[in-house]
Amino acid sequence: MPELRKHRGRLTQSSIYRNLGDLEQAGIVRRVAGHDDHARYELDEYFIGHHHHLICVKCGRVSDFVVPHEAERTLNATLKKAAKVGKFRLTGHRLDALGVCVSCA
Ligand SMILES: [Zn+2]
Ligand SMILES: [Zn+2]
Repeated sequence: MPELRKHRGRLTQSSIYRNLGDLEQAGIVRRVAGHDDHARYELDEYFIGHHHHLICVKCGRVSDFVVPHEAERTLNATLKKAAKVGKFRLTGHRLDALGVCVSCA
C-alpha cells in the first residue's frame, strides 16, 4: 500500500481504501486476514485460483500456498458436515496458517 500511495500522490489513503472496498463488494478483490490492523487485499480466487496463506505473526508478511487436492477434499467434507450441523450453506472456505517467517525467526 505505501507504493500505491507514492505513485498516486493525488489519492488520499482513505480514498484508496474506499476504492478497495468497492472492488471488494464487486467481488474483484478480497481482504486477506492479517495479524495487525493493516488491511491486505488480493485478487479474488476467481482470478488467481483457490489457495491458502501463511501469515507471519511478527511482521505480517503473507505468502500463498496450495493444499493438495486430496486434503482440500477432506477439508471440504469436514466443513460440509459442520455446515449441516449448523444449518449453514457452505460456499467456500479460508484457511490461514499462522507462524513466524524466516526473517523474523
Ligand atoms: Zn515475518
Ligand atoms: Zn482450500
